[in-house]
Amino acid sequence: MIQEIQSKKVLSFHEDSFPTNWDLNPYRGCTIGCKYCFAQYAHKYLGLNDFFKDILVKINAAECLEQEFKQKKWNKEQIKIGGTTDLYQHIEKKYELLPKIYEVIKKYKNPLFIQTKSSLILRDFEIIKDLSKITTVDIATSISTLDESIRKIIEPGASSGLERIEMLAKFNGICRSTTLGFMPIIPLISDTDENLEAIFRLAKENKIDNVVTSVLFLRGEVKSTFFKTIQLNFPEIYTNFIRLYSKSTVDENYLKSIHIRIQKLREKYDLHTEFKKVNPKKNPIQLSLF
Ligand code: SF4
Repeated sequence: MIQEIQSKKVLSFHEDSFPTNWDLNPYRGCTIGCKYCFAQYAHKYLGLNDFFKDILVKINAAECLEQEFKQKKWNKEQIKIGGTTDLYQHIEKKYELLPKIYEVIKKYKNPLFIQTKSSLILRDFEIIKDLSKITTVDIATSISTLDESIRKIIEPGASSGLERIEMLAKFNGICRSTTLGFMPIIPLISDTDENLEAIFRLAKENKIDNVVTSVLFLRGEVKSTFFKTIQLNFPEIYTNFIRLYSKSTVDENYLKSIHIRIQKLREKYDLHTEFKKVNPKKNPIQLSLF
């Protein structure tokens, strides 16, 4: 079900600055459908059932953003678009909310951080290129695997891993930074030597500025649904997988060993890991529900 809504606010503040304190989400719900998605149960609070199918479209997102920018206490902090839902999920093709939002960003020269798992962002390449000339724009994507048969199970609505890296590379030298999140690394699935090496090598070959990594974290309802995904699609590793996640964080020995392997690859490919921040300040004006 797709539902168009008029939103009162589109900016939301959060304490965790990764890498900004401000999020702008033009949609609630996300058709990318990642099996490990932590946002999927937030929908229940809105009385909606399916985070991956019941999508709220903030059709007045650009107008709301302009109103919020006009507030005297707005400090021109960097805004992250796509922090809780993917901004370039499929219905953006129809609604085209982003070009209107970028117009407002351009008018106020506000710094921007864009994160997406979809190469639909290339539709707006020229707009983003123009924006980068007048304000700071950072671009990020994340991938878990280059194996398409696995990607189709765990991130069915995303672009392929290779497409995402190639998409990111197109912004090299245009935006301030490009960041590849190798995340989540899924134990016994996307942690093969082949996958780890290929992702770091491609990041280097494509001159990506930063590579950040994170191992799958599971808790609450996501943990049980993800276990079911493993049981159904990767039965051969199921027993060992649930053993690794007997707690919410992955087994400590596993974590140590994957960090050693990643560190070796960082050194081999000389890849950086730090986000550059744009004057991060905390200014908690009202939080947004929508
Ligand atoms: S792209 Fe992000 S918000 Fe969308 S389903 Fe995947 S993890 Fe969730």
